[in-house]
Amino acid sequence: MECLIEPKSITVLCTYQCTAACKQCCFESSPAIKGGLEGEVIRARISEAKNEFRELGLVVFSGGEAFLLKEELTRSVAHATALGLKTRIVSNGSWAKRLERAIRVCAELKEAGLGELNLSTGRDHQEFVPEDSIINAAEAAIGSGIEVLVTVETDTSESDCYLSLRGNARIKRLLDDRRFRIVNNFWMPFHDDAPVRRQEADIALLRKGCSQVFENVVLTPHDNLSACCGLTLEHIPEMRLGKNDGSNMGSLYRAQADDFMKYWIRMDGPYSIIEKVMGDAAGTYLEGVVHGCQACAILHKTPEIREKIVALFPSYVEEVMTRFAIKQAVDGIQASNAREMSK
Ligand code: SF4
Ligand code: SF4
Repeated sequence: MECLIEPKSITVLCTYQCTAACKQCCFESSPAIKGGLEGEVIRARISEAKNEFRELGLVVFSGGEAFLLKEELTRSVAHATALGLKTRIVSNGSWAKRLERAIRVCAELKEAGLGELNLSTGRDHQEFVPEDSIINAAEAAIGSGIEVLVTVETDTSESDCYLSLRGNARIKRLLDDRRFRIVNNFWMPFHDDAPVRRQEADIALLRKGCSQVFENVVLTPHDNLSACCGLTLEHIPEMRLGKNDGSNMGSLYRAQADDFMKYWIRMDGPYSIIEKVMGDAAGTYLEGVVHGCQACAILHKTPEIREKIVALFPSYVEEVMTRFAIKQAVDGIQASNAREMSK
């Protein structure tokens, strides 16, 4: 098989250390976790990715808390910008406790070329980072000309973080700006004691393919390369591509070319694959699933599902790979038309 897709983005998980310790954090991040990538290593890996992948256009800095990198984060944003890449930072906003500091930080990041700031908040986050910090960060970023997306965990019956934010006078003013958005996000439970959320699974969405796989590569805090930045990536050994050595990123990425499961996940998504191979029994495994990455972890970690996949996948190869090839061809034509139209 030939891998026909080039990654369009690289996600840099700068560290798993975090200023918060959200109970359902997919990486179990907290202030107690130590270590992460050095700034120089991050910049070298971004350069390597740019050289290896001709369609690479975006660098996402995330974690843990990316701002723990301090000035190395700004330097790395500037480095990516100098290579002609767009940049985005994902953060919990803990650095924006004081508005004056937030304004200074955002001005420096804008100067470095930062295009977008994604802020994560909600019931679990706000045990550690108050709503005010999110508002300061959003206001400072928009004021500096940086786009902002605030994602709020779906609330429980006792929390109302989403409506509280939307009702805030400062946020209402920001909502008039097209560069500011605020959305509700499914919050995936990682532990049995997770409180019930007011979220109903969107089954039609869950049955869609995963566009992350092949289109994104991930640099982990241990300098490994991973196949996606799905929330469950550290729970799925199959997503690990290998250790970076400074010159092997392209070969690590392309070694996935023979991995049929990745094509299948891209085309049909893990939720649909479980439904296909498990038939009437699928519901037992998919009960309570609200996120595709949750289904992906179940698919990879449940022995009965793995056994079924091993037994049945040969009968799906031809059909899935044909659909993949057709979709690639159509996407290629559409992209080329769009380029022509924009000339
Ligand atoms: S802010 Fe994000 S990375 Fe940090 S503990 Fe919470 S969920 Fe995890
Ligand atoms: S569905 Fe699977 S492959 Fe896709 S992002 Fe989630 S964990 Fe990664």
